Amino acid sequence: MIKEIHQKLVDREITATKLISSYFEVIKEKDSQIKAFLTLTKDQALEQAEKIDEKIKKGKKINILEGIPYAVKDNMLVNGVKTTAGSKILANYTASFDATVIKKLKEQGAIVLGKTNMDEFAMGSSTENSAFFTTKNPYDLERVPGGSSGGSAASVASKMSVFALGSDTGGSIRQPASFCGVIGFKPSYGSVSRYGLIALASSLDIIGPLAQSVEDAEIIFKSITGKDQMDSTSYNLEKIHNTPYRIQNTVFGLPKEYFQERLDDKIKKAIEEVIKKIKSQGATIKEVSLPSTSYALPCYYIIMPAEASSNLARFDGIRYSPMNNYPNLHDLYFKTRGEGFGAEVRRRIVLGTYVLSSGYYDAYYKKAQQVRRLIAKEFDKVFQKVDFLITPTSPTFPFKIGEKIDDPLSMYLSDIFTVGANIVGVPAINLPCGQAGNLPINMQIIGPYLSDFSLLNITKTIEDIIL
Ligand code: GLN
Repeated sequence: MIKEIHQKLVDREITATKLISSYFEVIKEKDSQIKAFLTLTKDQALEQAEKIDEKIKKGKKINILEGIPYAVKDNMLVNGVKTTAGSKILANYTASFDATVIKKLKEQGAIVLGKTNMDEFAMGSSTENSAFFTTKNPYDLERVPGGSSGGSAASVASKMSVFALGSDTGGSIRQPASFCGVIGFKPSYGSVSRYGLIALASSLDIIGPLAQSVEDAEIIFKSITGKDQMDSTSYNLEKIHNTPYRIQNTVFGLPKEYFQERLDDKIKKAIEEVIKKIKSQGATIKEVSLPSTSYALPCYYIIMPAEASSNLARFDGIRYSPMNNYPNLHDLYFKTRGEGFGAEVRRRIVLGTYVLSSGYYDAYYKKAQQVRRLIAKEFDKVFQKVDFLITPTSPTFPFKIGEKIDDPLSMYLSDIFTVGANIVGVPAINLPCGQAGNLPINMQIIGPYLSDFSLLNITKTIEDIIL
């Protein structure tokens, strides 16, 4: 997709200005129903496109991403553009600098179309926790697009953007990608800078692409990865040797704990079909075990709220987006958070503060960190036996809007197969692999820590086999 558009620009079959305008046309036509975007940046986008056209006219070479339109989840800062993280508390906040990922893409000429809707502070699996509105699933407008990067996934699926950026703390790129039938790649922890990403849980958060093909995801990942002095956990992947696998020499593991009764039967069957196909191409398939899988979700729901409660302390109603219609300072401090944050955010702040409090720290937070180590060890052990893991991404098809909103536990279960990769820090990708009725079916491929390029590579091969 990106390569084709790039060629058209180079061959002057289309101008960048035309290209960008055509995407705003599609947005105008579709977004009143889908509601993927919170903010559009049409003027800036067209201005940037004109400059690229001048460059092309002068016969200058253009970069692969130059002029390519994309959408950004609203928890990443784009200088001069409103950034809300889906929250009322940031409803009037305008970013004063670019996140590193945005800076990198800007330098390469990619063009931001707008900011996409999300669950408030990336807490959720459906975009229903957005303080503004719920995004609809492009395949079925009565269903959710997944979350928390639901707006990004819906914009790519409905071709309102060529690609989008999302963030993934427990599944927020992969689960919405699966609900909307697009590629969603969560890179290894630290391989993309988090500078300028409004943090949910800093030891789990990572930015990654949602795209229409694995090749596109790879192009985007290549341009956003790398060490950034503004994020001390970031590093350079380029120096790391990534083996290009051939399907005949590749061993895939199927963790038995991921193919259990909670998994929808149709999804299970479709993944089994894919496994048959890659086996017939010479791949080796092994059943493996990750015994602590059932502890991954409880572990996540202790570590994530703990880190979130501390990260969200900065939103005090004074900085970022003043909510200053209170008679005195006391009211301002006490009321802004109660009124500015939605129910799910408040729930997690309370939970997080509780598990970190002196009487309960050992019983919850410390225990969760120990479980985290245990899970990481199990992944290490499995990756000594297999090259990649194949699992489902989501246990269910996209659910109906409103279906799970009053039942947080059942909502949390949406992440049951995705949180593991965040806890351990390994890369994982969502790959569409079929359809049931009008809804997409997807699978997840997980690779060892830092195997990002090999994972993208092998996923491309599987994508070709499925097609
Ligand atoms: N759905 C998960 C949650 O609610 C994951 C969120 C995320 O990855 N940002 O926490």
